[in-house]
Amino acid sequence: MPMAHSSALAIARQSVRGALLLPDDDGFAQAAQPWNRAIVQTPAALAVPADLDDLRVLIAAARDDGLTVAVQPSGHGASGDLSGALVIRMSAFHDLALDLDAGIVRVGSGVPWGTVVTALEGTGWAAPAGTSPVVTVAGYTLGGGHSWFSRTVGLGSDNLRAAWVLRVDGRHERVDDESDPELLWALRGAGGIVGIVTALEIDLIRSPSIWGASFTFDASASGAVMRAVRDLAYDAPPELNVFVDSMRMPDAPVLPEELRGQSFITVQGLTTDGPSDRLLDAMRAVGSASRETTGPTSPATIAAASGEPTEPTPGRGASAALSSLEDSLIDELLAFRAQPEHWPIMGIGIRMLGGALVAPRRSGFAELREARWLLHALVPVFPGAAPEPADASIAEFDRVLSSALAPHTVPTFLGPGQTLELCGAPPAVDRLRAVRTALDPDGILHEGRLPR
Ligand SMILES: Cc1cc2nc3c(=O)[nH]c(=O)nc-3n(C[C@H](O)[C@H](O)[C@H](O)COP(=O)(O)OP(=O)(O)OC[C@H]3O[C@@H](n4cnc5c(N)ncnc54)[C@H](O)[C@@H]3O)c2cc1C
Repeated sequence: MPMAHSSALAIARQSVRGALLLPDDDGFAQAAQPWNRAIVQTPAALAVPADLDDLRVLIAAARDDGLTVAVQPSGHGASGDLSGALVIRMSAFHDLALDLDAGIVRVGSGVPWGTVVTALEGTGWAAPAGTSPVVTVAGYTLGGGHSWFSRTVGLGSDNLRAAWVLRVDGRHERVDDESDPELLWALRGAGGIVGIVTALEIDLIRSPSIWGASFTFDASASGAVMRAVRDLAYDAPPELNVFVDSMRMPDAPVLPEELRGQSFITVQGLTTDGPSDRLLDAMRAVGSASRETTGPTSPATIAAASGEPTEPTPGRGASAALSSLEDSLIDELLAFRAQPEHWPIMGIGIRMLGGALVAPRRSGFAELREARWLLHALVPVFPGAAPEPADASIAEFDRVLSSALAPHTVPTFLGPGQTLELCGAPPAVDRLRAVRTALDPDGILHEGRLPR
């Protein structure tokens, strides 16, 4: 973007206390990259406001320059084209206040989940956090957010009590279901397209006795493991949450020796109320696991063991919410997994849905009422590895799952270029557009995942 198009921002630079970078500035290209390095984005400007006053100045300047405003705290969920946008990073909004008597955390929109999880360790409370400690509470919660505890307490967005929102007209206020139910409904899943959130108030999870179990089986047991977990879902209590990961590790030098070239399947279970005999019985009936660990655990322990990357990383993937996991689909998935040409897909994760997800406590755009399984394919990009024929593998993964798709998926699991139309029925999407038009009639906010 030539400087001539950024004159108001160039002037704003003299008054903002935070950082404001334009394309000709040193370090712009590096700073403008999203956390997911596989996504190329070329915004018109990048800002790290120091406070609310900065934010107001930046929005006004972007409007004067004919730019849109896109809040992107880090860019795990970067979707692609941000040309003509001022990208805003919220790292200066880092307040964190726990109210354990009320079971609530109030958190600034630049705070990553790892900070909250660490602050809660040993308190008997847990957060409805995703698996990555470096994803922000805001980016996750405003996109729905599926956590280790979603069968117990619903989506992250279902636990959003209130938000502090800067409207495009400059008003900054706390909104909740009483003061502005339509805005709250939209923030629960479609956050970035209706307002700029500076802080969130979130329900915590009372969890004095978190218990976890982890089983690793040889890949040859994959069919039996998937069927056992599928059957367990029919009568599993909502306190039990289960993730399955089918892993095929590449022979990449960057990996530990014991993992290189190995194929295996893991089942991890987590409860908020102590040991789950249902899970133990189901897994032990499958056969002997090569590794089994069970016992009391904690969210910080789980986060540390998750192996999620904490540094910016190129990654690709695909995901789908399914309404069922029939034997025929499991067979097809395993046949797909056995084809050597689909080696770019290193992991396939299967998360058990249901439980509290079936009856959300609060009204929100994001919901997984009708889905029973959330699948995702992990396609990492290893340094030094040959360029991957990943597109064909992702397309085939999508094709295999297409017969069992649930009506909607959750926004935080959308891939690059996918839109919110995949996450809600047409009336819900129309309602979202209406909320956006009412709040942002001039289209100051970037269109995000809902094209105008
Ligand atoms: C390794 C890894 C693990 C993950 N695990 C999970 C998981 O377990 N469960 C899950 O649900 N998701 C998971 N995700 C997806 C992740 O939650 C989403 O991509 C999330 O949106 C990323 O958060 P972020 O902080 O990077 O936000 P960004 O990608 O920077 O922003 C995402 C969007 O959020 C909105 N937004 C963010 N902040 C604000 C704000 N202050 N005001 C208004 N709008 C805002 C904007 O629309 C923005 O486009 C994972 C992603 C990765 C890379």
